[in-house]
Amino acid sequence: MSTGTINVAVENIFPLIKKFLYSDHEIFLRELISNATDATLKLKHLTNIGEAKVEYGKPIIEVKIDKEKKQLHIIDQGIGMTKEEVEKYINEIAFSGAEEFIEKYKDKQGEEAGIIGHFGLGFYSAFMVANKVEIITKSYKDEPAAHWVCDGSPNYTLEEADKTERGTEIILHIADDETEFLEKGKITELLTKYNKFMPIPIKFGMKTETLPKPEDAKEDLPDGKAEDPAPTKEVDNIINNPNPAWTKQPTDLKEEDYKSFYRELYPMQFEEPLFNIHLNVDYPFNLTGILYFPKMTNDMNMQKDKIQLYQNQVFVTDNVEGIVPEFLTMLRGVIDSPDIPLNVSRSYLQADGAVKKIASYITRKVADKLKSLFNDNREDFEKKWDDIKIVIEYGMLTEDKFFEKAQQFMLFPTVDGSYFTFDELKDKVAAAQTDKDDKLVLLYASNKEEQHSYIETAKEKGYEVLLLDSPIISHLIQKLESEKENVTFARVDGDHIDNLIKKDEAAISKLSEEEQETLKTFLTETIPADKFTVQLEAMDSNANAFTITEPEFMRRMKEMQQTGGGGMFGMGGFPEMYNLIVNTNNELVGEILNTKTAKKKERLVTQALDLAKLSKGLLKGEEMTKFIKRSYDMIK
Ligand code: ADP
Ligand code: MG
Repeated sequence: MSTGTINVAVENIFPLIKKFLYSDHEIFLRELISNATDATLKLKHLTNIGEAKVEYGKPIIEVKIDKEKKQLHIIDQGIGMTKEEVEKYINEIAFSGAEEFIEKYKDKQGEEAGIIGHFGLGFYSAFMVANKVEIITKSYKDEPAAHWVCDGSPNYTLEEADKTERGTEIILHIADDETEFLEKGKITELLTKYNKFMPIPIKFGMKTETLPKPEDAKEDLPDGKAEDPAPTKEVDNIINNPNPAWTKQPTDLKEEDYKSFYRELYPMQFEEPLFNIHLNVDYPFNLTGILYFPKMTNDMNMQKDKIQLYQNQVFVTDNVEGIVPEFLTMLRGVIDSPDIPLNVSRSYLQADGAVKKIASYITRKVADKLKSLFNDNREDFEKKWDDIKIVIEYGMLTEDKFFEKAQQFMLFPTVDGSYFTFDELKDKVAAAQTDKDDKLVLLYASNKEEQHSYIETAKEKGYEVLLLDSPIISHLIQKLESEKENVTFARVDGDHIDNLIKKDEAAISKLSEEEQETLKTFLTETIPADKFTVQLEAMDSNANAFTITEPEFMRRMKEMQQTGGGGMFGMGGFPEMYNLIVNTNNELVGEILNTKTAKKKERLVTQALDLAKLSKGLLKGEEMTKFIKRSYDMIK
């Protein structure tokens, strides 16, 4: 037996190891299983190339809890280590690696501390949960097994052991304040979180498997009890799927395989994904993965943090911020890349060349997929539009490359359920909706119910009305207007329709200049000036007497401020202001003007104003109660 002292530069590394990764103790298991996996894959490689003349067989990794002895065992059948190798890899290399790591991160907090969890401390992370660690290992080479013991001080012992099967067993003597790691539930949770898709089968206990009933089994009794219960047997409880879908070739996978992998990833998710994108590159960086488009809701924050990041099938994190362009963090699925440097801060990550390439590759793949879906089956794409538009619109806003590509599949739905690309739309409405200044005006509504009367007015003119209802649409419209020449978007309730698309025809008012003056004065005095700006317009006599509009610019700025950025006013700097368009050619307006009794005149205005409010959805509370009462009185 030999004893020794690990060459420690820092006073004593073990208390440090235990202390500083306080919130991330659990990663020790991922580290040890990664080592066991590496050791097994190394053996596979050596047998493949004929270097190791042993039977590779069907190796597994086993995790065992011995509650009584307060031990956790991780056992593999990999290459193992000779005594000299333990000396070298554990006492020297791994240790100095751990030491360097601690040196670098011991004072770090906050964001940096989170990074540490991604960046393994390696073998020595065992000391985060154990006060004593043993290694019993037998190399594939014809040499005796070795037994290493270290109690958390820099002293260790290393002696020969009588283990005969190839591989390594790590025994953790779990510290008294870490006994949660002796709980079956806790270990199951960790294995499922970090090792669910690791390439070597991982066994954790046994489970009962139900076998198919034999041919001649008796039928179940009517009360549901089985006369001949199906036979069962005890089998290894393998917690992982060593060959997850993303490691396979797209050509080897069917639609159903992608769907079942989705269920594997998100067992609690009952909704099926809309479609998937298989990522697969090996130059200039290595990346595989499958992204899924789920059905999106309009609540954008709810859906983040669903993409899982792996490094060679080891789970790293589900926060892919900085790696995947932000608009794609709403998707689900898996990305696996050994080329993502996780030991750097998020801000550094975003500036990293390889990571930038990864992000733009993913963006391009998503755009290509959307384009091919659009080209291959437009009808189906239109059906999915509502569920995916938020991602596309968000992408168009934030990634210029994506904005360009999206021109080919971005859809503009109309209130009547037709879908146009921008170019199609332009062709369709150019003739009717170009105003006297040669600007193309694209009309839209954000809510079919609330803006019903405005939509109808526009349709009567033969105009096409789009239905654009995403929460970020004002931002996108703003961008489209600045990118496209001579195009403006106008919401149907932004102004009277004749003002939205101004044609040359000069409107003739039935009222004289003087009458208009009197009317305007009266109305401005009667109608609260802090809420409405009165505006007289000579319109078709059939058009409503009063119409409330909200100028496009103000409304858009307000919306943009609510959904972040873009506002040029301070927070809350938007007054509730509307325009009240008064149609001087409407009969009722003439009547208001000519009514002599002040009371009656006022009543007409109040009633007409309430009606206008009603159709804009602004009539509420006490005003509504009064309006209803007044209306009943009128028909009594
Ligand atoms: P890394 O895995 O990054 O090399 P670790 O600290 O996790 O660093 O492990 C240090 C070294 O110890 C490994 O490189 C390997 O040579 C050896 N080792 C650790 N665990 C095992 C194991 N289960 N089987 C064989 N060798 C192992
Ligand atoms: Mg390791």
